[in-house]
Amino acid sequence: MLKDSLDIYGDDLHEECGVFGVFGVENAPNLAYYGLHALQHRGQEACGISAFDGDKLTTVKGEGLVTEVFNQQKLDKLSGHIAIGHVRYSTTGGGGAMNVQPFSFHHYTGDFALAHNGNLVNSKELAHYLEVRGSLFHSSSDSELLAHLVKKDKSEDMRINNIMEALNMLEGAFAFLIMTKNRIYACRDKHGLRPLVLGKLGEGYVISSETCALDIIGAEYVRDIEPGEVVTIDHHGIRSSRYSQYQRHLMCAMEYIYFARPDSDIEGCNVHSFRKLTGRYLYEQCPTKADVVIGVPDSSISAAIGYSEASGIPYEMGLVKNKYIARTFIQPSQEMREKGVRMKLSAVRSLVKGKSVVLIDDSIVRGTTSLRIVRLLREAGAKEIHVRIASPAITHPCFYGIDMSTREELLSARMNKEEACRKIEADSLEFLSEESLLKAGNRSELCMACFNGCYPTSLYQNKLNKE
Ligand code: SF4
Repeated sequence: MLKDSLDIYGDDLHEECGVFGVFGVENAPNLAYYGLHALQHRGQEACGISAFDGDKLTTVKGEGLVTEVFNQQKLDKLSGHIAIGHVRYSTTGGGGAMNVQPFSFHHYTGDFALAHNGNLVNSKELAHYLEVRGSLFHSSSDSELLAHLVKKDKSEDMRINNIMEALNMLEGAFAFLIMTKNRIYACRDKHGLRPLVLGKLGEGYVISSETCALDIIGAEYVRDIEPGEVVTIDHHGIRSSRYSQYQRHLMCAMEYIYFARPDSDIEGCNVHSFRKLTGRYLYEQCPTKADVVIGVPDSSISAAIGYSEASGIPYEMGLVKNKYIARTFIQPSQEMREKGVRMKLSAVRSLVKGKSVVLIDDSIVRGTTSLRIVRLLREAGAKEIHVRIASPAITHPCFYGIDMSTREELLSARMNKEEACRKIEADSLEFLSEESLLKAGNRSELCMACFNGCYPTSLYQNKLNKE
């Protein structure tokens, strides 16, 4: 499966957001810019930065990539020692300018800004609860709900107790950053579905969805924010509070498999190393004879290397991705979608012609991308194509912020492995087991609801078969 800014297949999974915060460092907005740049893979539709310069809260945001929304002139509007930023791919609330984060709120008790990664499953219930109490919403985003909840009792300033009470009302996946003029609160959901890490930079602190964004600004990793924890950062340093005694470590398996950058560490496990092990276990699960191992760029390369190392079959760069494909807002026609694969990917004929190929991909959603890649390799002369997927079969939709198809559209929800293999025109098809996935991360648990339907929360009004 491929991931980039141009979803012309309509078959990609999308992460919805990344968050980044800086406290106590000179020119915090500039660092937030670099942090967001490193998190760009988590959302390409929109981005923004909010910063406090003394009492004044300023937000600059817009639709587009970080390099499109910000230039020096825009960055110069932001200053101060405290900033939060956000990159977005829309899920709940849809796209559109009004849903671009961070959200800034002007309140007589003090202005504040908020940025959010994840998805709440009880947002409709919470919106109703607040509306009957007089709240009016500017956007349809989950994030605004939290803002109303923390301010619902009209207390004089933002207090940790208000935040903890509000967080306890939320159900779902979230990593929230709340910024007041002298504080950042970093909050993670009690199931630990979305990643959030704390870093140190000089005398200041940094909060990020992924460690790769710490590295880019020279910050030192301190620790992961724990599930059910709020970390308060201010001029006294950092303080930890628990808003929930319930605590699981159900990190989204897709963060490891597909979303996170390979140079990030999630809860102590490097993403590239995790993926390499999935490739190794794929081979051990179902050894296959072939001439060459090929990974679908970019996110399947690590697993392909692992498969190659375990099997002794040489790894080759049999597929090349066009990195410079332009963003477009033109809705693609079916014909364009067909052409899309040629725009995005090319097979290296001299490496695959006459060869038996093991093709490693990280996942199959609808199967349309897999079919096109198999055809691409056949047209380049591959003799046999054995598709190996470095994750279990996706059979259920995600309600925690990962935009995947409805259940009816998921290939593996509709058909068994043999039928799916025929559908994508492969010679054989195998998926990684759930046990191997846990083993790759040396973990006892992960969220794997999209593979097994075991959702860690109630789904409220969300329906398995909803459109
Ligand atoms: S259902 Fe799947 S995509 Fe969604 S949070 Fe769980 S593992 Fe991640």
